[in-house]
Amino acid sequence: MTGADMTPVLVIEDEPSIRRLLRTALTANGFHVLESANGQAAFAEIAAGKPELILLDLGLPDMDGLDIIRRLRGEGDRTPIVVLSSRGEEAVKVDALNLGADDYVTKPFGIAELIARIRTALRHRLQVQGAEPVFKSGALSVDLVRRRVEAGGMEVKLSPKEYDILRLLVLHAGKVLTHRFIMNEVWGAAGDVQYLRIYVRQLRAKIEARPEQPEHLLTETGVGYRLQ
Ligand code: CA
Repeated sequence: MTGADMTPVLVIEDEPSIRRLLRTALTANGFHVLESANGQAAFAEIAAGKPELILLDLGLPDMDGLDIIRRLRGEGDRTPIVVLSSRGEEAVKVDALNLGADDYVTKPFGIAELIARIRTALRHRLQVQGAEPVFKSGALSVDLVRRRVEAGGMEVKLSPKEYDILRLLVLHAGKVLTHRFIMNEVWGAAGDVQYLRIYVRQLRAKIEARPEQPEHLLTETGVGYRLQ
């Protein structure tokens, strides 16, 4: 086993059956599992166990999971947080991401998907220091140093705003970015989501082989976008 295989992951979840499921799945995938059944125990575990990633249920008996994100980020703690949310909680997912959570999975979730999200969040944390200057995924290539975008072997000409949106997605590749985050970063203020959708449509027409079935610039319904 390599060191990375024993990455400590803290599961903050009050439902014993879900904790058991997560413990089994994470251990089987080589993670070292720490567990807390409430918010207070979680803060003690974070201080003692130094988890490299946190899986967070938002509905805890003693506090709102959102307050855990707010407090950790407020203290400058950058540990990746993947939220375990329930179906139909789009507004809460958006709040969690805007507070600094890295990603979310919706219950009931598939284990393969959860493990993939965890690996992406851990990889993203490692890339934050020195972002890859060239992003490559299938037929799409984005060179952030030369500001050059290629799709299907052809250079693509983007408008400055289209490029800014794509650059932001590349810098956070694999991560869900909320509408508000993208608008704040690109326009400097929260604008009309409809406006962002128009730009995304234009961008897809240029970088996707089949814009109506995007492979790279994915929609996270009710939340935002993700580049994969
Ligand atoms: Ca719960």
